[in-house]
Amino acid sequence: MRVLVVEDEVRLADTLRDLLEMDGCAADVCHDGEAGLDNALSGIYDVVLLDVMLPRMDGLTVLRRLRQSGSAVPVLMLTARSELSDRVAGLDGGADYYLTKPFEPKELLACVRALARRQPELRVGDTLSYGDLRLEKSAFTLSCDGRSVRLSRKEFDMMELLMLNRRQILTKESLLLKIWGYESDAEDNNVEVYISFLRKKLTHLRSQVKIKTIRMVGYCLEGGE
Ligand code: CA
Repeated sequence: MRVLVVEDEVRLADTLRDLLEMDGCAADVCHDGEAGLDNALSGIYDVVLLDVMLPRMDGLTVLRRLRQSGSAVPVLMLTARSELSDRVAGLDGGADYYLTKPFEPKELLACVRALARRQPELRVGDTLSYGDLRLEKSAFTLSCDGRSVRLSRKEFDMMELLMLNRRQILTKESLLLKIWGYESDAEDNNVEVYISFLRKKLTHLRSQVKIKTIRMVGYCLEGGE
């Protein structure tokens, strides 16, 4: 899960990022509203944490523009106690939830998880299925007909994205952003390397599912419908 934190108080933003990372999320931070809106529009985030009082563009404007451009990404507004009217405006403007500062780390993480779960997912409990494949989050394993292999974190993230977006072509760029994030210097090449690792594992499992390359565009799964 990838979370965008838009918060101009640098220490708070860093704390939020650390919290999210300790909880197993990837987190990117922006310190002003314009950068926040740009990043939120990229479509790579599962949840956006959005402060109200921000330089360059305030959080309510960011939220309004985000919704106007059709983004349905879950947004958790962070408001100061004195900003009650902002809270109401935020919820009216399409925020999914708000938290009043200061908040308990546990409460924040619970909210983020609850908002991320609202996204339509094709899971049964901890397991994601496609064709003859089962992907298990708790064990990081991919299995087929009683055979099973363990995946590395990045292999797992990539397989999960392919399975969740089964009817779409995933571009190399979106895989790169969702798995490695903005701040990494990973290149397209990394995506190819991990796709080849996954293909070897699919062959080893003797699965009917294949990762298809759409030349110049990206990848999608086939063989599971
Ligand atoms: Ca602020």
